[in-house]
This record gives sequence, C-alpha cells and structure tokens, in this order.
Amino acid sequence: MKAVVSINSGSSSIKFSLFAIGDHGDHGDFQLAAGGKIEKIGIAPALKASSVDGEILLERDWPDGTSLSHADLLENLFAWAADHPLAGREIIAIGHRVVHGGTEFAAPVLVDAALTDKLEALCPLAPLHQPHNLAAIRAIAQLQPNLPQVACFDTAFHHDKPALASRFALPRALHDQGIRRYGFHGLSYEYIARRLAEIDPVLASGRVIAAHLGNGASLCAMEAGHSIDTTMGFTALDGLMMGTRCGSLDPGVVLHLETQMGMSPAEVEELLYKKSGLLGVSGVSSDMRTLAASGVPAAEEAVALFAWRVGREAGALASSLGGLDGIVFTAGIGENDADMRSRICRRLAWLGLDLDELANAGDGPLISMPDSRVKAYVIPTDEERMIAMHTYKVVQGKSA
Ligand code: ADP
Repeated sequence: MKAVVSINSGSSSIKFSLFAIGDHGDHGDFQLAAGGKIEKIGIAPALKASSVDGEILLERDWPDGTSLSHADLLENLFAWAADHPLAGREIIAIGHRVVHGGTEFAAPVLVDAALTDKLEALCPLAPLHQPHNLAAIRAIAQLQPNLPQVACFDTAFHHDKPALASRFALPRALHDQGIRRYGFHGLSYEYIARRLAEIDPVLASGRVIAAHLGNGASLCAMEAGHSIDTTMGFTALDGLMMGTRCGSLDPGVVLHLETQMGMSPAEVEELLYKKSGLLGVSGVSSDMRTLAASGVPAAEEAVALFAWRVGREAGALASSLGGLDGIVFTAGIGENDADMRSRICRRLAWLGLDLDELANAGDGPLISMPDSRVKAYVIPTDEERMIAMHTYKVVQGKSA
C-alpha cells in the first residue's frame, strides 16, 4: 500500500504523520497510520513515533546539551524507517508545510533545487519559520534524492484575496518589493473550507469567519470558501493576541522601544514573538488551560483580552464580508475551550449570533441556536491531512 508523509518542521520541533492512501486517494481517501515528533531540538532532542492505535514504534532521546541539527535527527528517523517495513507501506512522497510562498506560489509545488533557492530568498519574510521548513526539505533531499517532495504553503489560500486586503498604507514601492499582507494558517483554513462544505454546504457558500485559535491564532474571512481577508499580515505577528505573540500593535511602540528604551531589533523581536500575548499580559503562562485554572487577576485579564481582540477583529472581517452568515472555531483553543467560544460568541451577538450554551458544552459541531441568524460551528482542523492530500495530487500530476 502506498503512503505519503506530512512534515511540519519548526525551530525546535519536527512533527510528522504517515497517511496510507486508500483506493480513492484522488478523493481524499487517506488513513492516518502513524505519527510522531522530534522535539527539543538544540536542547535535549527526543524522537517519538507511534501508530494510530497508540503503539509506540520508536522512542529515543539524547542528553541535555546535545546539539543535533534538524538534518542529523531526520537522518536518525530515516535510518530507523529503512529497517522497519512500516507494515508494507511504500512512501511515495513527502509533503512539507512551508510558511511562506511569497507573491509567486498560489498552490503546492514539487521541490527541486531552483524552488529551494526561491524559498530561501523568502527567509527574511519569515525568519523564525521558513529556514526550519527548508532545513527539513534539504536534509531529506540529501538522504533520499529520488523521493519526491512537495512544498505546501501557508500563504497560498490567501493568495487571490482582493488587492485591497493585501495592501498596507505604505508607499507603493514597498508593496512592489513584497511588503504586503499575505496571511497564514492557510492549510488549516483550506481544510476547514472543505469540511464545512461537507457539513453545511449552504453556509459554506456564504460569508464565514474561520477562527484558528491555537498558540498561533488568526481569523479568515471566507466568501464561498475563498479567503477574502485575514487578520495576519506580513508576518505571523499581526492580528489577534496569541500565546506569546502580541498581534496588531501600533508601530509607534516598536519605534519607541528601539529609540527611547534602547532595545535592539533582536530584543524587540524576542519581546513581540516570545514574551507577549497571553504570557506577557498574564505573567503566568502562554497556555490557555493554565490561565483558566490560575485564579490570578492578570490571568483572567489576559483571557478577557484574548476574547475582546477576537471580537474586535471578527467585527472588522464581518465588514470585509459585508455581513456574516457563520463562524467556525478550530485549533487547540477553538476546538476545546467552550468558555472562550462562549465569551467570543457573546461579543458577536450584535451580528445575530445566538449561541446554544448546551450544545457549546457538548460535542458539536453546530453550537448556535436553531433560529440563530449567524451559525456557529466547531470543526477540528487537520493541516497534516491537507498537506498529504496536496502532496499526493502534485505527485500524481507529475507522473500522469
Ligand atoms: P499550536 O498553534 O501550537 O498548534 P494548538 O492548536 O495545539 O497550538 O493550541 C494550543 C492552545 O490550545 C493552548 O493555549 C492550550 O491551552 C489550548 N487548549 C488545548 N486544549 C484545551 C482545552 N481542553 N481547554 C482549553 N484550552 C485548550
């Protein structure tokens, strides 16, 4: 049986999932067979893979201070895979989440040396993510030169949004040099658009806000399943408040931090990406569950601010859409945190959203009252599956 692997390679971790391709692979017939994670890269690496039934397939860790690179660790994983039959599955391609496709890439593409160079040139636009995405692509190209790899972009879903939604109010020359609003979490939104079309095709053909609320968080305004606006912009810092990222911020604050408070660009980057958001406001944690259980007033304020910011940005996207027919919650907080969903929906009552609190506390997917003018759903996202589906399609196209 054939299989594809999805890889999400970040700064300190590499997540991987193996999908077996069923008889109707062209129509999304994929079964998750195994998955795992290499984590704490650069600190004390640990590698774990398990089957979908929970059977541990591989578990290795290295002592504190072990400086194995992404490439070294992937080599370990591939060496193990070479000695294991993977239940007779033949890996035909590897798909990667690549954060930035720039202005050029509106769809997944097969990786070759020329593409890798183009993606490398985009690293300054996503310095915390893109280099690590590319590290995995390069390492696998070395280890398995004949195994096709496909790059799937987080920006691609937003590529064709209206021109106004892509433009900052900056001089035109900067826009032409790529300083634009790109948008991210596109693989998640694409999956949500597909699932919503299966669950509620009428709503999917209307005006919907998808709310990807995890450690990273953003909203996407979708019209008939296409992105027309989103809260993230040039980088994944923009828009909503996140676990450790500040979201939208008066750019004057950045100038002040550097010119008046003497912070270096590197210190400001660290502050905005790693020390702000829920963590910065609460002073307790970046994790929503920890904050909910904390009882400290600053933790409650961070939770309240998160909901307030989602409500505020959702109002802006409802304007971009010219009204609202539905909202879909997804990712760690969106899928699991009924209290946060309730806080957000109460803020959107003025748009005609009437939350069914009982359904919200249950299993969903529909959590709005039957006569609510704006519908609300909870739909678990699956970016890995989306990557696998794209990868299979691109590889099929190549061999067709
Ligand atoms: P990432 O962006 O890293 O993929 P996730 O989508 O896993 O993040 O979301 C992580 C967030 O989801 C954390 O803030 C975590 O506290 C929150 N979360 C996960 N499960 C729950 C839960 N049952 N209740 C509330 N929050 C949850």
